[in-house]
Amino acid sequence: MLTSVAAARQHLLANKIDFGTETVSLSEAQGRSLRQNLVADRDQPPFDRVAMDGITIDYAAYAAGQRLFPIAGLQAAGTLPIPLTNPASCLEIMTGAALPPGATTIIRYEDLKKEGVAFRLPDGILDGANLHRRGKDVMAGAVLAEIGQYIGVGEIGMLATCGYDQVAVARLPKVAIVATGNELVPVTATPEPHQIRRSNLYQLAALLRPLGITATLHHLVDDREELTTALAELLDSADIVILSGGVSKGKLDFVPEVLTDLGVKTLFHGVAQRPGKPLWCGQRGHTMVFGLPGNPVSSISCSLHYVLPYLRHCLGLAEPPPAYGQLSHELTFKPSLTLFERVSLQSEPTTGILTISSVRHSGSGDAGSMLRTDAFAEFPASQTVFEEGTSVRIRMVDAWIG
Ligand code: AMP
Ligand code: MG
Repeated sequence: MLTSVAAARQHLLANKIDFGTETVSLSEAQGRSLRQNLVADRDQPPFDRVAMDGITIDYAAYAAGQRLFPIAGLQAAGTLPIPLTNPASCLEIMTGAALPPGATTIIRYEDLKKEGVAFRLPDGILDGANLHRRGKDVMAGAVLAEIGQYIGVGEIGMLATCGYDQVAVARLPKVAIVATGNELVPVTATPEPHQIRRSNLYQLAALLRPLGITATLHHLVDDREELTTALAELLDSADIVILSGGVSKGKLDFVPEVLTDLGVKTLFHGVAQRPGKPLWCGQRGHTMVFGLPGNPVSSISCSLHYVLPYLRHCLGLAEPPPAYGQLSHELTFKPSLTLFERVSLQSEPTTGILTISSVRHSGSGDAGSMLRTDAFAEFPASQTVFEEGTSVRIRMVDAWIG
């Protein structure tokens, strides 16, 4: 009996593992999940901040009709404010400086006319112009980001602003990726005609890297004893074990029974989906085990749709906002399985609407089709014909920058 995609997802959500907390330096915090609130240590701006290069005056003098202001001094950013003791004079002042006592208003150089050692001001200047007032953006003590926040560029900036040189983040799991199969040889080897290279190890490791995870890579042959000994060790040392291969109906597909013998409780085996129907998943204590089908595209699809969301869930990270693409052609898929279709993306030049097109392929063993694939589109099992223009949930294989 196959488990539905929704039920498989539910099983994983219900079996979250907490990997704990660790402290890292600010420069290593990007991409991690925050495990402490980010609290503002000061108001932001921390002082009434000059927002333009120019001069500062006491507006009262301007309001009384004065237009020519002799220069009494210059104040750069980062220096103690020089009090404006003579309200009939001005100070030249630079962006980022703190407003001096006695001054109220900034006038940009662009709006001034230099006359000897004085500046002539135009009409129409407003009191308090070109100032970024203390506390306008952030009040001291405010919680700027909460536990579970993904630490992206903005968070790095505010962590630095607020003086966090060490940051508590969710500990990353120790992940072991295990390729099983007698036919597999190292990437460096020249395979015999009946052998292939262990490519799954590398593509699965690549899928985990955006989470900051560096997995250890292993290979095991299809031998009950060898699998038992090696997996017993990995189950003790890893938080997540991801196997590829050996979960189907083959005579040498020992993975599920070996794991069961080692005390791993099956959460599900067989999901109503294509590709990736033989997917196996089980848990022992604080270790989650994924048995992915060996076909390269199945292993990618299962990682994208189950392993990565599970890891984000455990790390306390929100799922990315759902993305959709419009089908550029009609698609028919008869089996009552969820279809994770390989698609390429096109962006309609004027509207920016994303359209998706099925990628030509010859099945889940066609690893080369991934070179033409931008995303997987999810077509529900309940439907057979999907009309052109249908809006379909997509999941990107790679993050795009640009
Ligand atoms: P299996 O799930 O073990 O029945 O394997 C299904 C298909 O995937 C077979 O053609 C395997 O040779 C292939 N395969 C298994 N593991 C890998 C791997 N690590 N890299 C590339 N192909 C693999
Ligand atoms: Mg195999």
